[in-house]
Amino acid sequence: MQLKNKFDLKLNLILKLIFTMVFENVSPNINYPMIIDYMALCTNNRESTSNNYNACVFCQKFGFQEPIEIFIDENTATCPHCGLDTVISVSEIPGWDGTYISEIEYAQKKLRILSGLYGLLKPLDIIQPYRLEMGTNVQKIFDNSLYGFWEHEITKSLNNELEINKSNFLLNLSSNEYFKCINSKDINVDIISVKFLINKDGDLKQIGMLSKKCRGAMARFVLKNKITNYKDIKDFNDYGYSFYKKDKNTITFVKD
Ligand SMILES: [Zn+2]
Repeated sequence: MQLKNKFDLKLNLILKLIFTMVFENVSPNINYPMIIDYMALCTNNRESTSNNYNACVFCQKFGFQEPIEIFIDENTATCPHCGLDTVISVSEIPGWDGTYISEIEYAQKKLRILSGLYGLLKPLDIIQPYRLEMGTNVQKIFDNSLYGFWEHEITKSLNNELEINKSNFLLNLSSNEYFKCINSKDINVDIISVKFLINKDGDLKQIGMLSKKCRGAMARFVLKNKITNYKDIKDFNDYGYSFYKKDKNTITFVKD
């Protein structure tokens, strides 16, 4: 099958996802909030959006306090930023515990997540549960790999965002499988990668699951401390890891 454009590919990926969920029975067991849950919070919300921090599902403004001035049918808030009726009260977001507004806002600006289905995501982008790893072989179906499909778009978007944020480095916390979808030669700043190793009787080994945990913890550490100089990353010491060495653009942490 020859795909005409990106829309076709997205549509086909979604169809494949539905196919996978229905026929391979891999629907997730976790109760993630679904888009429909969020949309329900966007209507008849005059009361909940009147004296709270609000967020907009469409334009992604989070924790804003500008008053809502226009209500559809006198009862449904419209966003003061984009004008759409996609406002929700932050206090009503499923799982929200009422803290970290500034951290989340900061993460919205600084953290990007790579996805085989969605490309480049911000932390608050609403997505459906899905299973489509970047390394999935879709060559026969789509006449392209997901790497080939996403590379240009993701690389360009990252460069734009690095410029907007005036960032002087890109911290890579993704696995090799995912990072391959970026054309690293075309990224306009230094890319700093991080390795987490375990010291077993003098042998330094990488353990997949632990590395995954540490990459998440490192993202939290960088965002919480608003780190803008990669030298400060050395202070990370979660899960018993501490700074070991820096070679070229790779920083290694070791746990004894
Ligand atoms: Zn908006």
